[in-house]
Amino acid sequence: LPKRYQEASESVWVEYVALALKYKPLNLGQGFPDYPPPSYVTKALSDVANGDHLLNQYTRGFGHPRLVNALAKVYGQLINREIDPFNEILVTVGAYQSLYNAIYGHVDHGDEVIIIEPFYDCYYDMIKSAGGIVKAIALKPTKTGVISSADWKLDPKELESLFNEKTKMIILNTPHNPLGKVFNIEELTLIADLCKKWNVMVVADEVYEHMVFEPNKHIRICTLPGMWERTITIGSAGKTFSATGWKLGWSYGPNNLIRNMQLVHQNSVYTCATPLQEAAAIGFEYELSRFNSSESFFKSLAVELKGKRDFMANFLVQNGFEPTIPEAGYFMIADWTHLANKVDLSSETDEYKDYRFTKWMTKNISLQGIPPSAFYTKPHKHLGENFVRYCYIKKDETLQKAADILKQWY
Ligand code: PMP
Ligand code: GLN
Repeated sequence: LPKRYQEASESVWVEYVALALKYKPLNLGQGFPDYPPPSYVTKALSDVANGDHLLNQYTRGFGHPRLVNALAKVYGQLINREIDPFNEILVTVGAYQSLYNAIYGHVDHGDEVIIIEPFYDCYYDMIKSAGGIVKAIALKPTKTGVISSADWKLDPKELESLFNEKTKMIILNTPHNPLGKVFNIEELTLIADLCKKWNVMVVADEVYEHMVFEPNKHIRICTLPGMWERTITIGSAGKTFSATGWKLGWSYGPNNLIRNMQLVHQNSVYTCATPLQEAAAIGFEYELSRFNSSESFFKSLAVELKGKRDFMANFLVQNGFEPTIPEAGYFMIADWTHLANKVDLSSETDEYKDYRFTKWMTKNISLQGIPPSAFYTKPHKHLGENFVRYCYIKKDETLQKAADILKQWY
């Protein structure tokens, strides 16, 4: 194993997907819908595969023309700026590869990268293997009890103290996984001002952009004054169209940053699957035709998820958990410590309590969640230990089953 991976170990996904395959619990762990994507996208994909045969062959390396054109139109409207489809967009294998290209295309040995805890776990290993130095700052709950994701905040002084001349990049995930937090304008302005002061670039992971619950508003940091030129924004077809298995993502931003990502891309993946890109383009074109109407999938999905969020929050509270109510996305974290006396944590050997709790739950009451300490750097893992993350983009009957399991146990 090369030096750059010697610190890395099996990720929480590798471990918990295997656990789910082995014990077959009700799976509220890894985030994916257990019901079909909208039929116009799945139909587009099957039509494409059986239509023009050339769409089963290679396409343009940095993004299939029909898709980058559709993305330029969609984001052009959302950020109110003309986007050059061929120079300011890069299509990648999921948001994952956009993150990888953004990090590998910019982070050099000794560069510092700021990440916000809890963070989507792959940021850490990507930065480290690229030779970067991780500087982590934790969002902390500012209230107790059943609170909102908005109550998780950064300490502005602590954030400021992380910036210096070695800082290359900050990765900002809004709407946030796993908290469901939507960063507000004051928080974004604080980050933007520090980035401008220290000449730092932003990687904005916005894969949950279309799942924001009223009255919250998703603000793209690239739209703040002076931020376009230093921001790469990342999206995901898997999240946008509820088809996580498509593993199709993209980045948009100024050409000088996208070009650096293209270099990584052409030397690793080179080109993404053509039929998926064509189908995603058809999906976006259809959404563009009904963009701000209530039928828009981007609007209806958020409404649907809000109902599921409320249902889950309710059954978690009734069964002894203290959830943080998310403002967006499809994950909810909940403090499980009032239930500690009902769990035999000594039957598991993991270092962190939330791993023991979630494994015990999977094996003994057949309900799987994700241990949030996976989303913290080692010195801060204790901050995640009292929580579990559950995914609620599930059929109502699945959520009802989860409620029944917990009620019977409680
Ligand atoms: N970023 C965040 C915050 C995520 O939750 C995910 C989960 N899928 C990704 C990136 C990766 O997205 P994709 O499946 O499109 O690679
Ligand atoms: N983003 C999803 C989650 O947080 C999937 C993670 C993965 O498969 N790596 O659950």
